[in-house]
Amino acid sequence: MGQVYVIGHPLVQHKLTLMRSKDTSTSTFRNLLREISMLLGYEVCRDLPLAMTQIETPMQAMNAPMLDGKKIVLVSILRAGSGILDGMLDILPSARVGHVGLYRDPKTLTAVEYYFKVPLEMNGRDCIVVDPMLATGNSAIAAVERLKEARPRSIRFVCLVSCPEGIRNFQSAHPDVPVYTASIDRELNDHGYILPGLGDAGDRIFGTK
Ligand code: URA
Repeated sequence: MGQVYVIGHPLVQHKLTLMRSKDTSTSTFRNLLREISMLLGYEVCRDLPLAMTQIETPMQAMNAPMLDGKKIVLVSILRAGSGILDGMLDILPSARVGHVGLYRDPKTLTAVEYYFKVPLEMNGRDCIVVDPMLATGNSAIAAVERLKEARPRSIRFVCLVSCPEGIRNFQSAHPDVPVYTASIDRELNDHGYILPGLGDAGDRIFGTK
């Protein structure tokens, strides 16, 4: 089975609790998501490869580490992924960005693709796929499946809240893709929502309900 990293950092956990509360306003939710995404981004980049580069400081020449290879690609699963994307771009400002548009068929809960756009040259790039909720896992599985066709060097998946069902499904489809999450919640309900969760992430980010 693949790896699952639960980010237990106190700042992450504190912000997540504020986000879960139904009394948190849309603007506060958005700000918290941006902040927490920076912290998740910091953790997901922890094992990225470095390469030594010759530079000159004002004092002397030195060999110093920089991220190895081509620019990282952040892939946002629409629409809720955009909330995480903003925070990740704050710490990875030169990352390239891809989008996967998927909606959940309300009856079958399967993922239906309506949009796919990633940088032309994906070969040799490290990808970070972002979506706040790993619920059934169907959207994440479909997004990573499409991404693998482009043959990037590596793929990581980041979400804010996950559940045992989603992790199980995702890992059986993509055991090679590590999952980074702030929480593994109790369960999925019959409508595909995570309990206790934080509600519909898209609605909470965009204030659509
Ligand atoms: N998507 C959400 O936004 N929330 C859930 O609980 C599950 C899927």
